[in-house]
Amino acid sequence: MADIAKSPFWPTKSPVRRSMDARSSVFNRLSLRKSTPMESLPRQLHKNWKISDFELGRKLGKGKFGKVYCVREIETGFVCALKVMDKRELLNYKVEKQFVREIEIQANVRHVNCLRLYGWFHDHKNVYLILEYAAEGELYKVLKSKRRFDDVTASYYTFQVASALSYLHKKHIVHRDLKPENILLHFNNQIKLSDFGWSVYAPGHSKRTTMCGTLDYLPPEMVEAKTHDEKVDVWALGILLYEFLVGRPPFEEQNSSTTYKRIAKVDLRIPSFVSPDAADLIRKLLKYEPEKRFRLSEIGKHPWILKNRLHWPSTFMSLENT
Ligand code: AMP
Repeated sequence: MADIAKSPFWPTKSPVRRSMDARSSVFNRLSLRKSTPMESLPRQLHKNWKISDFELGRKLGKGKFGKVYCVREIETGFVCALKVMDKRELLNYKVEKQFVREIEIQANVRHVNCLRLYGWFHDHKNVYLILEYAAEGELYKVLKSKRRFDDVTASYYTFQVASALSYLHKKHIVHRDLKPENILLHFNNQIKLSDFGWSVYAPGHSKRTTMCGTLDYLPPEMVEAKTHDEKVDVWALGILLYEFLVGRPPFEEQNSSTTYKRIAKVDLRIPSFVSPDAADLIRKLLKYEPEKRFRLSEIGKHPWILKNRLHWPSTFMSLENT
């Protein structure tokens, strides 16, 4: 598979490996259907997938638990991404339950700014996730290469992430691991929120206690080991917006205990080159008290967004109606 993946061209022959029986594995206990409806594919293709259904293209990247390839579904020519994860590694790291939850949540998400999970399957060695293909890759890499985004770009990205989070919260899903590494970019600067590994389904007004996510993005209630709810994502959006405009997160320090202390005090220092309107939105998102944080549904009415949206790409209009 590796040799084929290295080729810049589509292989003429796909590496066929028939799915094998793995009845004893935890992966058989997934409660969701093996594939979810693929809008772009004909109905008869809602089936039990196997690796030979796909033509492997180039490798898109490598994550902690596997590799991601650009693939084409042979019967329809539908292009998507295939994440290949070694079962043994998932079990070794004891992340199988987290992984199953990730699949169950992501398979039920349908929003233009959330990466679609079309289906999954497994064989004796690997678990495969069939994902929407995001052509421009990781937002983190784009941010690192540009150092920081201008107001128009940052506002466009922020608005799309806020739309995705707002949708998730309406479905009682809390993402809990927002950061540039977990955001993919498609054509026309379209955001695709991905990596639902720390997400949780929390119906009603239930509060959670698990401390999770990435240090620089943790909210005060998590560093102080209090319960939390969906407002943790609103805090993380504030951190993300700051990182978009400044190029690094606001509480970043050499040692983590200093970061913890600064988060708990909301010791926020916004550089003078950040426009006053953007600084205002950052401060409104980064409030110590979760309930005082800016409402995601109101973000489109904030002056910084209103001012900058005039310069967003015209494709946004059609995007907004999807
Ligand atoms: P992950 O294992 O999800 O962290 O993915 C590893 C890398 O593969 C990411 O950093 C991306 O560069 C790339 N990647 C993952 N999923 C996709 C996708 N759906 N479309 C395009 N690139 C992807």
